[in-house]
Amino acid sequence: MKKIIYLTILICGLVGITGYIPNLAEASGSYIAKVYTDSLNVRSEPSSESSIVGSLKKGETVTVSKEEYGWLRIKSDRVSGWAAGQYMKKVDGKVVTATATDQDGSVQKSSAATRATVLADTLRIRDGAGLNYDILGYLTKGEAVTIIDNRKGWVQIQTPDEQVGWVSDRYIEKGASQTAAVSSGKSKGLKGRVIVIDPGHGGDDPGAIGTKYETMENEINLSTSFYLEDELRSRGARVLMTRTKEEEKPELSDRVRISESSDADAFVSIHYNSSEKKTSGILTFYYSETKDRPLARAIENRLADGIGLKSNGISFGNLHVLRENDTVSTLVELGFLSNAKDESIVRRSGYQKKAAKAIANGLEDYFSR
Ligand SMILES: [Zn+2]
Repeated sequence: MKKIIYLTILICGLVGITGYIPNLAEASGSYIAKVYTDSLNVRSEPSSESSIVGSLKKGETVTVSKEEYGWLRIKSDRVSGWAAGQYMKKVDGKVVTATATDQDGSVQKSSAATRATVLADTLRIRDGAGLNYDILGYLTKGEAVTIIDNRKGWVQIQTPDEQVGWVSDRYIEKGASQTAAVSSGKSKGLKGRVIVIDPGHGGDDPGAIGTKYETMENEINLSTSFYLEDELRSRGARVLMTRTKEEEKPELSDRVRISESSDADAFVSIHYNSSEKKTSGILTFYYSETKDRPLARAIENRLADGIGLKSNGISFGNLHVLRENDTVSTLVELGFLSNAKDESIVRRSGYQKKAAKAIANGLEDYFSR
């Protein structure tokens, strides 16, 4: 029935417009990003095969108006076009630099003697010395910071990329990083970790639909998630699923709540992708540079290790389940259902098992750092 199929595609399109899948539609609103590589090519199209129209230097800021397949449409005062998202980082409006807060004297004071290392898996940076202050960002275990000041159980710190804020002094240790990792509560690896798996879409939202076999994204998100659940359980992790049935469709905020209320160690959202262009392969998304990027990196390293489809790397993604989530989180798009070749690969259980194993290995790597 053609009519019904058309309608479901339309619903999937609407999901894209709300910003959940940035590669399907324009991201809502533009933002400022900074370049984090020595030289970054700017291209005419969101593809490494398109022509180079200019380049950006490290530290340059640009306005990002659109995201597609891990590429960002950028505009600087010199050049505009498309650049690879993994080499840029969104500039947080709330970030304050050290020069804005420090007098000459306190900069001097905060130099060599007051280095410290983060002990907690995830440590919130707040804009004041108390739990009631806004969260500015996150630190992860083993990161080094500089202590600037302290006040009743809180210390003011500066990160290597010059973010300044306050953290609870219970979760940092003065001194070098080697000794710190050992003294934190949890053991290394997956044993005892709480992992939330989020099979994307469900219910009346099928997600992407395959062009050749009409493979439904919500169904293979779920089957891949079950393989991942088995992998993680066999390695001693405690697994929570945001849905376990095809007809279930939890709200995005409910999916986040499951992870936050269970005090989970990690949140992994499973998806398959769709595009109007002839695009192929895997994409791994993060939102927070400090909180989420290390997990995305660890998982992508394993997904890139020959599971049957090429990996397109990691990318910033302004996605609800990542953006609104206090848990370390990532979202993987494990292939394009809009690409007949990708579709014929990803619909096989062998591929889904390999992907699940790679994600589990990535999580294990992440928790063994
Ligand atoms: Zn999806």
